[in-house]
Amino acid sequence: MTPFIFNTTKSVVFEAGAAARLDALAGALLGPRILVITDSALRQLGLLDSALAALQAAGHEVVIFDAVEADPSRATLMTAVEAGRDAHVTGVLGFGGGSPMDVAKLAALLLGSNEDLDQAWGVAQAKGPRLPLVLVPTTAGTGSEVTPVAIITVGDEEKRGVSSSVILPDMAVLDADLTLGLPGHITAATGVDAMVHAIEAYASTSANNNPLSKMLAREALRLLGANIEAAVADGQNRDARGAMLLGSMLAGQAFANSPVAAVHALAYPIGGTFHVPHGLSNALVLPHVLRFNAPDAYEVYAEIAADAFPHLADVPGAQARCAALIEALEDLAKRLSMKTRLRDVGIPKGALPKMAADAMLQQRLLVNNPRMVSEEDALNIYTAAW
Ligand SMILES: [Zn+2]
Repeated sequence: MTPFIFNTTKSVVFEAGAAARLDALAGALLGPRILVITDSALRQLGLLDSALAALQAAGHEVVIFDAVEADPSRATLMTAVEAGRDAHVTGVLGFGGGSPMDVAKLAALLLGSNEDLDQAWGVAQAKGPRLPLVLVPTTAGTGSEVTPVAIITVGDEEKRGVSSSVILPDMAVLDADLTLGLPGHITAATGVDAMVHAIEAYASTSANNNPLSKMLAREALRLLGANIEAAVADGQNRDARGAMLLGSMLAGQAFANSPVAAVHALAYPIGGTFHVPHGLSNALVLPHVLRFNAPDAYEVYAEIAADAFPHLADVPGAQARCAALIEALEDLAKRLSMKTRLRDVGIPKGALPKMAADAMLQQRLLVNNPRMVSEEDALNIYTAAW
């Protein structure tokens, strides 16, 4: 068998209502003074209240930093680190979607090691140690609670990432109750993003693609495919919400060790230039990238088609089953009332060549794609998606 390395979060708690007993679950780990990193919307919604009450009742001092924005900046990270340093915190609790979790990862690193951030960018450059770190996701999509990656915006637009197993948290707490109020369009976009993580991890040509990632990707697709419509149709459906949170985490574990590819590479210029949310950006190019990849990857896609959509088990032949998977994903986006064309999110056709050029900068992702993507190919894919 081919050698591989698989890293993930040490402890995963899956329990509706777990936030309300965060003291019992993570109090000893986080220590007496905790830096809580979140965003102001979640705080105003009261989503943190039960967790904070539990920690404070148990005698923990809590310092709240709630100024994390979408696509968080370096300045935001440094302000959070300063707040933690002033309070001599002993642990970091990240609470929210991908952005607060990413800031929490790097805050724990910088507070624990005094490391120079500029020496930490890139793969396996961060050395640590970091402070104890617990992450509580409030959307089902990024899987950031089990990935070793944090992305920060530096300057105006440049996104830089730290990828190091040092910033994998000690614990992920999956509390489906925290996701009950999430609006349908966000549930849809983040849920499809998680499906993309599973599909791209499964088909990734990374040398580290491995049996664990493949197994996790399939179970993720099974959970996500079976529950995404129910979660979007009725946000209060606890079972569907729990399944989405679990599926998103499994997909995160899969792609953390078998990285994503061209769907994400082509999604980044959509998000970067036109500020389309990450999940929707992926959904917009997904069927078109899969169709482009199909000549080289149809057998792999056919293997997972019935995981996401069980009725596809009856479609005979790998090529036909792959085509049916792509159609089923397009139908799903329509049933979820998602925007399906680049023009629907305000992208002018004239912007496509620059986006194709920008997508070529994502070589770290493109190298994992089952089929080589040239700039001309990227433009053709965007044109099909427009
Ligand atoms: Zn993604």
